[in-house]
Amino acid sequence: MDSSTVDGSASLPSTGTDAKKRRVSYFYEPTIGDYYYGQGHPMKPHRIRMAHNLIVHYYLHRRMEISRPFPAGPDDIRRFHSPDYVDFLSSVSPETLHDHTHARHLKRFNVGEDCPVFDGLFGFCQASAGGSIGAAVKLNRQDADITINWAGGLHHAKKSEASGFCYVNDIVLGILELLKIHRRVLYIDIDIHHGDGVEEAFFTTDRVMTVSFHKFGDFFPGTGHIKDIGAGQGKYYALNVPLNDGMDDDSFGRLFRPVIQKVMEVYQPDAVVLQCGADSLAGDRLGCFNLSVKGHADCLRFLRSFNVPLMVLGGGGYTIRNVARCWCYETAVAVGVEPGNKLPYNEYFEYFGPDYTLHVEPNPMENKNSPRDLEKIRNILLEQLSQLPHAPSVPFQTTPSTTEVPEEEEEDMDQRPKPRIWNGEDYGSDADEDEHPRQRSSDSNLTPVETTTDMRDVDDQAKVDDDMVDADH
Ligand SMILES: [Zn+2]
Repeated sequence: MDSSTVDGSASLPSTGTDAKKRRVSYFYEPTIGDYYYGQGHPMKPHRIRMAHNLIVHYYLHRRMEISRPFPAGPDDIRRFHSPDYVDFLSSVSPETLHDHTHARHLKRFNVGEDCPVFDGLFGFCQASAGGSIGAAVKLNRQDADITINWAGGLHHAKKSEASGFCYVNDIVLGILELLKIHRRVLYIDIDIHHGDGVEEAFFTTDRVMTVSFHKFGDFFPGTGHIKDIGAGQGKYYALNVPLNDGMDDDSFGRLFRPVIQKVMEVYQPDAVVLQCGADSLAGDRLGCFNLSVKGHADCLRFLRSFNVPLMVLGGGGYTIRNVARCWCYETAVAVGVEPGNKLPYNEYFEYFGPDYTLHVEPNPMENKNSPRDLEKIRNILLEQLSQLPHAPSVPFQTTPSTTEVPEEEEEDMDQRPKPRIWNGEDYGSDADEDEHPRQRSSDSNLTPVETTTDMRDVDDQAKVDDDMVDADH
């Protein structure tokens, strides 16, 4: 059936100067939705499968290349993370958690409450990181204009520490891969939480500029002050946009567009990585912003218009029906179509009642960001950007060492109380977001690719065939 004849399908090509086709490459691991953080835990990998299911039922998969990521190997992950942390992640399991060898590391690596040890934890990290590294390889080879990995975007993970539901920082690994080919990489983060792990990794280099828009003030992780601008060679190459509750589409766009416009002009990145954390949407369980799906996606639409190689990643997002809506719509924006608002029937249709639409209304809540505050923030940021030399020419040979990040004393690491992203409240009883609605035998049949193949061999990437994308039909 021609997709354009189906009600609710992606049918209307976008118009205007931005309508030029982009080659989009999408990474999806079919078992990702089976990983389970535990009862009541707000982070639900199932949302990625829900988004994928919507994407397939809107026929968006026919407009892009779909790949199953190679799992990132321990060596790939060690390009950023410390060897002992990777050893721990790759060997710990719920059964061995309290063995002597593992138990003494739990506190040190911040594994426990926010970041529990669950079944298949390392496989989850490998799939997430494998997708982002694979996405970078695609861009490096100029085999795609836009790459997407909704299982990526886990921006809080540190070199030797889990944080905020994140264990392996797929973003840092993806950017390190991009830096093999690209001189300057711009990282933009629209998750409601500060992109602290990525900022920290590249705080002292000018080869990566990080820009994070986030709620600031008595909110996890507590970093991301407007005056944090990078250090050493990286001074002025970190930008932080601290915001208040109730951020709406209009306010967000009026800050995002001029700031990013200026960043693109002065920094002239060779590649852009956009973290699309969906906890900045209205009605998120952990968030307090008021963005609509369209307002959120406008960031992607704007970046797409620059025609610079673009990697699009997931991130937070805890009202999972809206996460699925958002990442499906953003996939449509990437491929350049406007999907109908009426949702096509899909495996998870019951999640989307009572209206069964792609878009949802923002909440009637106060926007605590006054026009005056926003103007002040914009002016400070534009002033900081005016300090940047125009398009810095960096020696191509020097790849930043991730060890440039100042090491903290390990004793301090143990004593410092770790902020929590989640207050521990149980969300498991919420009927409409039941954590294990059904076992998806069609997805679970697909065993992970058993290979430690070099990630750079992307031509051999396991292609997701039609059976795989149609598995949920
Ligand atoms: Zn977040």
